[in-house]
Amino acid sequence: MKLVQVAGLTDPGRVRRRNEDAFVCAPPLFAVADGMGGAQAGEVASRLAAAAFHDFHEADTLDPEARLRSIIQEANRRIYARASSDPHASGMGTTITAALASGARVAVGHVGDSRAYLLREGTLEQLTQDHSLVADLVRSGRLTPEEAEIHPQRSVITRALGTDPAVVVDSFSLEARDGDVYLLCSDGLTTMLGEETVQRVMSESSDLEQAARALVAAANESGGEDNITVVLFTLAEAGEDEDTLSGLEGYRIEPPPPPPEPVEVDGGGDTVLRPLPVRTEMALPPPQRRAGRLALIVAGILALFAGIAALALWGLSRAHFVGATDQGRLAVYQGVPWDLFSGAKLYRETYVSRLLTSQLSPDERRDLFDHDLMSEDDARARLAPYEEEAAP
Ligand code: CA
Repeated sequence: MKLVQVAGLTDPGRVRRRNEDAFVCAPPLFAVADGMGGAQAGEVASRLAAAAFHDFHEADTLDPEARLRSIIQEANRRIYARASSDPHASGMGTTITAALASGARVAVGHVGDSRAYLLREGTLEQLTQDHSLVADLVRSGRLTPEEAEIHPQRSVITRALGTDPAVVVDSFSLEARDGDVYLLCSDGLTTMLGEETVQRVMSESSDLEQAARALVAAANESGGEDNITVVLFTLAEAGEDEDTLSGLEGYRIEPPPPPPEPVEVDGGGDTVLRPLPVRTEMALPPPQRRAGRLALIVAGILALFAGIAALALWGLSRAHFVGATDQGRLAVYQGVPWDLFSGAKLYRETYVSRLLTSQLSPDERRDLFDHDLMSEDDARARLAPYEEEAAP
């Protein structure tokens, strides 16, 4: 097998001001990293991870899977060291999804929710299992995959590089076949596009450069709510005299300039719980007795409904639940854990903890993120024991 074409493209999307994604397209090594953290820390984390793929060579002689795991561990050490020594970088982290093409096999290693896919004979298959809150809930049967797609906390990851001195890396290898196309991508692609769309766009593209551009364009057309990164490579049967990497066409596409006046939507927002206008139409009939009485009854019923609606809104405005921010920190939200179809959120952050969801066990996460509604004090009290336990 030989690599016949590779392509990589990253784009800030239509909403975020910064691009915290990074990618590696250094055949036979490929990777996508999706950074997170305050200020510019997310960019620092994803770039540190990408750099390890270029300059860490101590694992070059290991077998492909061990080599990938070793590079990822090295990236984790570098990010953790930086996060521990630089207050501006404290709490930063990144996902990593990487592949190494080696002869007739492709090794994949990953941490977080960036994904690897394989397009084989026109069918797209997801190769990686997300390390995310909603993926945990789907695996335990508490959410359907369809519910997970629209879940307000779908971007919360449960494993990342840089949050702990060591990290568990998932890795596996598969037998490559002639014509296989591999796709590594950040969640800015997969939260905007369904798998059928990704499959169709890839199948319709004449080459990988065009596929990369078309995938990014499609994610932007669907909203471009997050940074979008794709890395693609394809393998074909090598001829007898051919060298593994001969005939390689490499594409590295520069990201286009950011949109002129982007709007930052991170951080909860303050548009939640705006009461819906209650429409009361009371066209009073001519002053006849019976009609007048009817109008009074109608008005009474409408007033009752308005009262119930107001009471419900008041109740919801006092409800709180435990959740997690996009950066993976535990948080208390006021409202109810739903997004409207318009994208408006029915909740807002009232408290963000220093504790990361990745510091909790899967059982603790299941217990805490049940989305039960409670008072703010009760929500804070549920976090307190975990925060005390984690305090230095
Ligand atoms: Ca992302």
